[in-house]
Order: sequence, then C-alpha cells, then structure tokens
Amino acid sequence: MRSPSRYPRHRTPGGTSLSIRFRLLTLVAAVVFAAACSSDDADSATDTSAEGDTPAENVTEEATVSSRDSGMTVTVQQTEAATLHTLTAPEEVFANSTHIIETENSLVLIDTQFLLPNALDMRAYADDLDKPIDRVFITHAHPDHFLGSEAFADLDVYALADVADEISANGEAEIAEKQADFGDAIASTFVTPEAVEPGTIEVDGVAFELAEVLDAEAHVQLVISVPDAGAVVTGDIVYSGVHLIMAGQPEPWTAALNDLKATSDQYPFVLPGHGVPGTPEVYDTNIEWLATAQEQIDTATDGAEFKAGMIAAFPDLGMEAAIDFVTPLLFPDDDTDADAAPAAAGEVAFGETVVNITAVGDGMAELVGSDPVVADAFGVIGLIPPSDGNSMTITATG
Ligand SMILES: [Zn+2]
Repeated sequence: MRSPSRYPRHRTPGGTSLSIRFRLLTLVAAVVFAAACSSDDADSATDTSAEGDTPAENVTEEATVSSRDSGMTVTVQQTEAATLHTLTAPEEVFANSTHIIETENSLVLIDTQFLLPNALDMRAYADDLDKPIDRVFITHAHPDHFLGSEAFADLDVYALADVADEISANGEAEIAEKQADFGDAIASTFVTPEAVEPGTIEVDGVAFELAEVLDAEAHVQLVISVPDAGAVVTGDIVYSGVHLIMAGQPEPWTAALNDLKATSDQYPFVLPGHGVPGTPEVYDTNIEWLATAQEQIDTATDGAEFKAGMIAAFPDLGMEAAIDFVTPLLFPDDDTDADAAPAAAGEVAFGETVVNITAVGDGMAELVGSDPVVADAFGVIGLIPPSDGNSMTITATG
C-alpha cells in the first residue's frame, strides 16, 4: 500500500497527455452538439422511465424519471418536507447532477451545470415550478459545477468562503480554457458567489444544514443536509451509478464517505454531484471504487490495464470515460511521443504554459507557482493540487 504522502501519484504528464485530453474533449463536444442538433421533439419533457443515458438502478422506487430536450435526465422524489428534483447531464458531459429542493413556498437550487444550454434548461425547469427561487448554492469550485452560473446571475448565489475565493480567482481562466474546447456551449461570464458560513439556515421554515468537508474530491466542498426531507446533497464526494473522476486523494475522500455513511439512517435520499440520485448503498460502492483504484495503480502496468481492471471490478457503472481522464496522469509512461517525456527538473510545457519543476529528491519533484490553468492541466475538469493550492508534488519520470 502506498503511503499517504506519496498519493496521488501525479507523475508529470507530457504534451501527449494534453493532446489525448483535447481529443477526448473534442469528441465530447461533437457528441453534445450532435445530440442538440438532432433534437426536434417539441415537448420539454418526455417520459423515458426505462431509458436514458444514465443508469437509474440506484434511484428509489418512488422516483419519477423523465428526460429533457437538452439531454438531461430529471429525477423527482417526494419526501415529507420537500420535493427533490435532480437534473443530470448526459454521461458525455460528465453526468453532472444539479438539484432543486422544492418546499411549500420556495426553491433552493444546488450547483449550476457545466454547459450553458444545460444551465439554461435547469433555469427553465426551475421557473416552470412557479415558486420563487430563494437562493442558489455552489458546492465546490470545479468548473463543471459553477460555469453554468450565468443562467442564475439575477439570483442570490452562495458558496463557502474558500469556494467563492477559488471561483473568483479561477473563473476567467476556466472560461477561456473551456471555451477553447467547447466554444459557445460554455458561458462567457460566471457569478462569484457570496460567502456563507457552515451552520444551519432556515428557508421557508425548513432547516438546511451546511457543512464544510476538506480535501475529499475537491479542496473544499459544501455538503447540504435537509433533515426534514431525509436528504443530503453531497457534492462530488459521491458519484452515483458512474465511475469516479479521481480528482482527489483517496484517504480523505474515503473518510468523508464514511462520515456520510454514518448518517445513512437519517438521510435515505442521497443527491450526488455526478450521476442519478442514490440510496446510502452508494457510499460503499464509492469506498470500494477508491480502494480498488489504489490497488490497480500499484499492480497495473499501463493505463489500459488500469481501466480494464476498474471496469471488470465495477461492470455496472457508467461513464467509463471518467477513467480516461486520469490514466494519462497515472501512467504517463504510456506516452509514445518521447519528446513529451519531461525531465526530472527544468521547464515543462503544459499546452502553451511553461512551468518550472524543481527536483526534491526520492523521485519526487515539486511544481512551483502552479496557476489555475496549469493545475487544471492535471485534471481535465479540475483535478486540484493538494491543499495549499500553490504547489503540487509530482513524480518525475525523466
Ligand atoms: Zn464534478
């Protein structure tokens, strides 16, 4: 077992990793636009309970599932104190899930989708519920959760202080980079949220408990629990019905999952950051996935073997492309372009950005002065550097 300080094994990705990444994203964009162009169904929602791109095995039996012209899947669950609406993007755009907690007289929205068309469709769906939107929460600072915020710019948008700061610092760079990949499907503006403190707030007479979770899938993550509804909105600590995008360190991430698991009796409705709503059983699946990934990293000889191992271990999970996001980082030796292999120290190019790497011994190196774009180069949609946000440790391959 790898020691915690050596994990995750961010060996330096070379130019080939990035070109793989851009090819993948271009493919994704093409699929999304093709889907949008071929949609001539005039109805805004059609019943497709048994179909859809996103696995629905984990949804509670009482859930109603339909789909939107945008390609998003809508899951509606009725609880005692609230109706829970979850809008999940197609797997081709990461199966991002955003949520609407509908109480008697108001709506609370959580996360804003990645692509603007999906964000606008979520806004249209919320407006159709015909109740005032009290506020919008953003769970964490990864671009697939806040880049749709333009569609909610007229509303009160909140996030934990550190999340708001990260969005403020990284938003422009994220827009520039994602527009290069996705064009007009990425909004040109974003909302910097107002800071909210962890604690309990009341909206329409219903308590919302706000908790801060550190260093799981993201540096900082907001978890929202609604006790009267038996619902917990987990952000990206939970991926439901889909493979995980391994954007954080397995040990603190697993700890966060165990903390959530301990509340299973209170919160039977689990509203994830990716994938369709689940039950508390999803926690064990995520915990096992992370443990299996650690084993596979130690035993697999290349990215293909790693991916095959994960698919074999979790044959029922969708979004296999989630694994592709990290294999170039975990197994940079797969690179066929020898010129792209970085040295142990010196300058390394990430796209057009050149950064300095200083060797720090024992096969490790430190990337100094990491900016958001460089940090993002490690993770496609926001694989963050550990804790301080200013430097990250990588394993030199040269
Ligand atoms: Zn995410």
